[in-house]
Amino acid sequence: MAMAVGEEDVLPITIPEALDSLARVIVDIIRKNRTMVEYYIYPKETPSEIEAYRPRLQVLYTRLESLSALDLAQLTLLVDDAAALMSAFLLPIIDQLLNAVHGVQQIFINHYDRDLEDRKPYNGIYTTLEYREKQLKKFQADQMRNPQRRLPETVIPIPPNPTEPSFCRFAVAYTNHRDHGKLAQVMSEDLTSEDREKLRNTGGAYLSWDCPGCAFKLKYHVLSSMTSSMQMTDDVRSHSSVPEVEYRPTWLVKCHVYQAKSRNGRDSLLWDDRRESVMDSRRGSTIRRQSDARSSRTSNPFFFGGPRRSKSEIVTDKYATLNTTSRESKAKYGCPFCFVTGRPYGHMDYRNGRELAEHIAARHHLGKPPSSLLLEKYMVGLSGRCADNVRRWDLNIR
Ligand SMILES: [Zn+2]
Ligand SMILES: [Zn+2]
Repeated sequence: MAMAVGEEDVLPITIPEALDSLARVIVDIIRKNRTMVEYYIYPKETPSEIEAYRPRLQVLYTRLESLSALDLAQLTLLVDDAAALMSAFLLPIIDQLLNAVHGVQQIFINHYDRDLEDRKPYNGIYTTLEYREKQLKKFQADQMRNPQRRLPETVIPIPPNPTEPSFCRFAVAYTNHRDHGKLAQVMSEDLTSEDREKLRNTGGAYLSWDCPGCAFKLKYHVLSSMTSSMQMTDDVRSHSSVPEVEYRPTWLVKCHVYQAKSRNGRDSLLWDDRRESVMDSRRGSTIRRQSDARSSRTSNPFFFGGPRRSKSEIVTDKYATLNTTSRESKAKYGCPFCFVTGRPYGHMDYRNGRELAEHIAARHHLGKPPSSLLLEKYMVGLSGRCADNVRRWDLNIR
């Protein structure tokens, strides 16, 4: 019980405050280490076991920096419980800092000065870290209990801003493991010669993941029963112009921006992918329609009626009809990594998987990868290696 009271007692903290404070603590530790070395060791050479703490602290500092670069408000639009997730990534950093401080203090006690056991030179730092840990744990628990908690896809503006592309709420849902996609077969007219060759050589079938909220559809290849869902498919894509990046179709689903259904009932934005050069004119004729009645309704900007339509559908269709600017209709994918670092515009209008891959290779390469939080959330591999709890990558940067 005493512990429960203690937990209640801590002062509230915000994520930016925690980030700032931890960065300062790391600087304090480095400074303290230097003072201790100067007092007890200098001019002799610093033993490697003490020296080893410097790169360890540097790694933790870099991790803090990449978390600090995330814009929490933007992150909230894309991932579940963004603030709680941030604290979930901060707590292990605190844990490692506590370990480091304990370890280095112990070295000085064991090898240089027994009295340090009582004097505890790192005590101030230790106390601060423990307090921040309590604050963040409480923060995290409060976040999860918050009655105002909302799923990110319900926070994404509906309808999306008609002048700027924005992530489709079903892309956001998918990122958070809520797959609302409809599956459909791919008509033979929609297979490229490349696709047909794949079917001839390896068998299997092509399926289409159709977004229930917008015109986005994505074709993918399935081969065996075991790997027939989009999460499991072996359909891995890469582009000869971007050897540093490979991805599965799921990555594109997560990055798709809202695409209005077109006014004449022909979704000109059909399949993505490797066929950007074959923007063929025949595709319009092969699209399955939900119903003819619906497309005629859609074509009338003043028709907002219909007994079974929800409010959001009506507004969405309104925008679909009123906004057919070329820019909007070209954007298919956005970069979530830029979006959550507060750089949404100009990173939201990739026309196909290759353009997005080129952007990833240029801006989020191995030398400057996204924060570990994003790597985990978006299931990103770095040279094939994923976070411990990610069993398979959707995007691999190599
Ligand atoms: Zn969509
Ligand atoms: Zn980016």
